[in-house]
Amino acid sequence: MAVPRNRLSNSRKNTKRSHHAKKPQCVTNCANCSGPRMPHTICQSCGHYGDRLIVAKN
Ligand SMILES: [Zn+2]
Repeated sequence: MAVPRNRLSNSRKNTKRSHHAKKPQCVTNCANCSGPRMPHTICQSCGHYGDRLIVAKN
């Protein structure tokens, strides 16, 4: 197993971890009902994808 040759300083460690933060969830609005919707997925509330009805909701 590889062993690190030198100790990583707190500054180098924290700089390395500066890219580890979670990014906010991407949410767009439905074209049909203008509700919140994940991109490239059908709308959970009305069942539309773009202008087409995929899943009929009652
Ligand atoms: Zn919708």
